[in-house]
Amino acid sequence: MTSNSAAGIRWDLNDLYAGHDDPRIDATLNECYAKAERFAGRFRPLMQNPETLTADAVLEALKSLETIYEALGRAGSYAGLLYAADTAKPEYQDLEQRVEQRSTEIRNLLLFFELEWLKIDDPVAQRLLACPVLKDYRHYLGSLRRYRPHTLAEAEERIINEKDNTGRNAFGRLFSEVTSALTFQLEKDGKQEELNLSEILSLLHESDRGLRRRALETLYEGLAGHGQVLTFVYDTLLQDHLTMDRLRHYRDPMAQRHLANEIDGAAVKTLMDVVENNYSLAQDYFRLKAKLLQLPRLALYDQYAPVGKEVKPFPYNQAQQAILDAFGAFDPKFRQIGAEFFAKNWIDAEIRKGKRGGAFCASPSPRLHPYILCNYDDNLRDVMTVAHELGHGLHGSLSRKQNYFNYDTPLTTAETASVFGEMLVFDYLLDRQTEPQAQIALLAGKIEDIFATVFRQNVLTRFEELAFSARKKKRLTPEALGNLWLRANSRYYGDAVDIPEGYRWGWSYIPHFIHSRFYCYSYVFGQLLVLALYRMYKDEGKSFAPKYLALLEAGGSDSPETLLKPLGVDIHDAAFWQKGFEEMKGLVARLQALI
Ligand SMILES: [Zn+2]
Repeated sequence: MTSNSAAGIRWDLNDLYAGHDDPRIDATLNECYAKAERFAGRFRPLMQNPETLTADAVLEALKSLETIYEALGRAGSYAGLLYAADTAKPEYQDLEQRVEQRSTEIRNLLLFFELEWLKIDDPVAQRLLACPVLKDYRHYLGSLRRYRPHTLAEAEERIINEKDNTGRNAFGRLFSEVTSALTFQLEKDGKQEELNLSEILSLLHESDRGLRRRALETLYEGLAGHGQVLTFVYDTLLQDHLTMDRLRHYRDPMAQRHLANEIDGAAVKTLMDVVENNYSLAQDYFRLKAKLLQLPRLALYDQYAPVGKEVKPFPYNQAQQAILDAFGAFDPKFRQIGAEFFAKNWIDAEIRKGKRGGAFCASPSPRLHPYILCNYDDNLRDVMTVAHELGHGLHGSLSRKQNYFNYDTPLTTAETASVFGEMLVFDYLLDRQTEPQAQIALLAGKIEDIFATVFRQNVLTRFEELAFSARKKKRLTPEALGNLWLRANSRYYGDAVDIPEGYRWGWSYIPHFIHSRFYCYSYVFGQLLVLALYRMYKDEGKSFAPKYLALLEAGGSDSPETLLKPLGVDIHDAAFWQKGFEEMKGLVARLQALI
């Protein structure tokens, strides 16, 4: 345990409950259960008779659901936050599991509402959706209806759910078991060491080139040893996905993801094509980085090598100051909301034994303010983490004027405020940094972060597309998958980076391909959206802030496309996405000028 500048910075959860043994927790759960039973008793028969169903009844049902979900959110968040802050306490583990279990029981009682709503015939549903009393719930109810053509009969859905446990989900578990048990033998500092997957990957950020090269070679040798199993798992899941697409009437493998993201395929295609057309920007950067490292050409294992000099320790109170100043320079309201998080102890920042690693922002419901957890270790990366989570916090605070069903955003726009917050703080810090070597480190770190999100995730999505179309023809071998992977990557790296032969195994450990197919383009969408918005902010100046604020206030009350329109954003327009690359080019040019 380290003592650092964030020691003693803990969150205050008293707004939720007084302690893990607060009798109000069980009271909440019991009350929710009773309400859910009454809800089912009253609304199941009404929903099953759509001819006589009135908009007022649907409104009443939605208001009751909101009340129950909000109360459940309070209990669930409290138990989850308590546990995250101290995972070692058995009483917190017990509480978390008890609340989780009870919530599932209660949610199961409420589930019929959505299912019955999907069963209602289109003309009846349209009649209800057109009623002004349901105006605030139109987006939620309408979004649900989009799944109607893809939902099977209840008995079939139940069989799929049960069989998935020994089918699709079992292959997912096999993947997790194989990859988490991977160990790699590597010589480091003259000693033979045994490393796991994340440990060996982190060596790619080391300054010792020989070590980076050995780490990458060892990684691929190890993966090749499990190649047969990893190939079989992925191949099976590809076929399972294709089968389900046929049964559920999805036109192409990405269609279900687009539906969940509330985005249409044409916009995603435009986005991905624009990214691909800008691969040369990445290649220019790789040549620049080779120069920085004094190499004739970059090798794959040099991609994340450190350059420049990291800035000095960054105490927590300075981070707070910098973030609030940067937010305030954008808009006074940003500073005001951000300051509340610090002043009212909604952030748990100190590093403690038993506390969960990483960082998150929990925004339970419009009735409650968000909470932030991070592990602040006095370095620049952590300043960015706080800026990121506080961005989420701003979004969660501003959208509290929405109702429960309009509160959350889909994946594609969920990271808008967080990444935008990071950009504000990054620029603020870069402008105040006078030492060139520190500026180089800052810029290179930012550029590589952005590339990993925009370019690399685009490459991953292209690979998935290739794998799916190849699987439609025949079963895939390790060799075939390796070739597709190299093909998708070679377009990105071009002749700017040396690719080792072992890299053909690079696809085999990526969990998204297994657990959440076509997830990766959402990262591209989110990051590029922010870069383009940030560019607009720089072009338009102060007049941009109110529009952006309104976007955050809107929460998830409509599709991303509709919510972005007032900002002048057309997600189907290649020129909009190109703005993001103009911002990126600016960063690379700034770095070039320093070298
Ligand atoms: Zn985030």
